[in-house]
Amino acid sequence: MTALPPLREVVARHGLQASKALGQNFLFDGQLLARIAAVPGDLHDREVLEIGPGPGGLTRALLAAGARVTAIERDRRCIPALAELADAYPGKLRVIEGDALQVDAPALFEARPHIVSNLPYNVGTALLIGWLSTDWEPWWASLTLMFQKEVAERIVAPVGGEAYGRLAVLAQWRTTARIALPVHRSAFTPPPKVMSAVVHLAPAAMPPGVRLATLEAVTAAAFGQRRKMLRQSLKGVPGALAAVGMLGIDPARRAETVSVAEFVSLARTMDA
Ligand code: SAM
Repeated sequence: MTALPPLREVVARHGLQASKALGQNFLFDGQLLARIAAVPGDLHDREVLEIGPGPGGLTRALLAAGARVTAIERDRRCIPALAELADAYPGKLRVIEGDALQVDAPALFEARPHIVSNLPYNVGTALLIGWLSTDWEPWWASLTLMFQKEVAERIVAPVGGEAYGRLAVLAQWRTTARIALPVHRSAFTPPPKVMSAVVHLAPAAMPPGVRLATLEAVTAAAFGQRRKMLRQSLKGVPGALAAVGMLGIDPARRAETVSVAEFVSLARTMDA
């Protein structure tokens, strides 16, 4: 591998001023990037899908960890900078210019990739929901994703608090989700208004007898009126109140007191 120029020099030479419209907040701190790349575990010779490599800071850290990286980047301006990185790591970096929301990512891989990304905030949640809504076992090995701190807290939220809602149930019913690393806003160029955190999600066994569509219907209704009692909020979902009764769940409870396991049991009972 040839020596790489400093990232800031790459940004200056290719005129990669951060675009707000593309959710661009770049990371330049090599130590922080190496810590993010270490979150999924040993990446040596493993496939990695990176969304939004930008000028390639995280990409460098992933390549240095020995990964084979496929990177999807929407900003055409970044492609020549990433091509230089691909030259420095022959056969290890494949760059795809496109919108990650449109690209058929599973078709790009034979082995299950780890997904690692400093996500553009505006598409991050949509991508996560898409990845969580695929068939199980999923086509990916793990997810390591940067989010605004507040979104990260909603993903890993325990039952009973303000942050607990649909996103927590969707994430936790079949993954083990944890905050791996808080990231201060000052680590980014330009710094965003809010703090961030890296979330790690590892696939768990899918509970048998549960359909995603049913779980989504019941959580959407319950959290759609989160201040209301279940007997009110679940009224419009066929079979939901009967399932509440069969499981002995108190219909006077509110959605945020219903655990992920209880939502899963509700969905299973509704489908039985
Ligand atoms: N990974 C780089 C880093 O850590 O410094 C850049 C992170 S920046 C927060 C988000 C990147 O995602 C930008 O390079 C942006 O152009 C790219 N991006 C935004 N929307 C995208 C989309 N729909 N598909 C692919 N890339 C996208």
